[in-house]
Amino acid sequence: MPKSYVHEARKRVGPKRARIRPIIGRLQAAHPDAKIALRSTNPLQLLVAVMLSAQTTDVNVNRVTTALFEKYRRPEDYLAVPPEELERDIYATGFFRQKAKSLRGTMKMLIEEYDGEVPRTIDELVRLPGVARKTANVVAAELGNPQGIVVDTHVRRLSQRLGLTKQEDPVKIERDLMRLVPREEWGLFPHLLIWHGRRVCLARLPRCAECVINDLCPSSRV
Ligand code: SF4
Repeated sequence: MPKSYVHEARKRVGPKRARIRPIIGRLQAAHPDAKIALRSTNPLQLLVAVMLSAQTTDVNVNRVTTALFEKYRRPEDYLAVPPEELERDIYATGFFRQKAKSLRGTMKMLIEEYDGEVPRTIDELVRLPGVARKTANVVAAELGNPQGIVVDTHVRRLSQRLGLTKQEDPVKIERDLMRLVPREEWGLFPHLLIWHGRRVCLARLPRCAECVINDLCPSSRV
């Protein structure tokens, strides 16, 4: 896209600081059901589901965890079976050997250092084996203590299209978003972009004509 066109489009929609609240408000109204798609009923299940979701779909994880959470209820349960049995039980989520190893390591640390409870801060969560910053971010946010903004492929694409960041690197995108998005919305914001990205602002062919924020978006095609 020519630079002059981008410049004109940015001028038309106004500064991002003035647009961010209306963007959040309208997306909230358009996607009142926007929330995490992984099913869980307690912090331990949430942590396990997010760890299993790497490199696979949420639907796939939900299929596996339905039986998994019946069988494994406490951190001790994951260590009570032979590693191969846990591998078999999570096989369908892919990368099952690595994921089983991470789960066992995490359960061991939860028991030894956190009384079997899931910690709430990112700094503690990233200490758990196999828990990267993105996983920690999701878990902390869902437990009501967001300390960052989750950046996945949808959040990245929409943030760029909306002119909220010029960065490519997820860590830098997160930094830009944290400066812009009001703190009380850090947990919800990624869900709004993810759901809008799945339903309207599709990767290949965004449906700008039916987008509720097209007048606030410098990439709008209408
Ligand atoms: S106007 Fe188009 S590009 Fe912008 S957010 Fe909406 S669908 Fe995406």
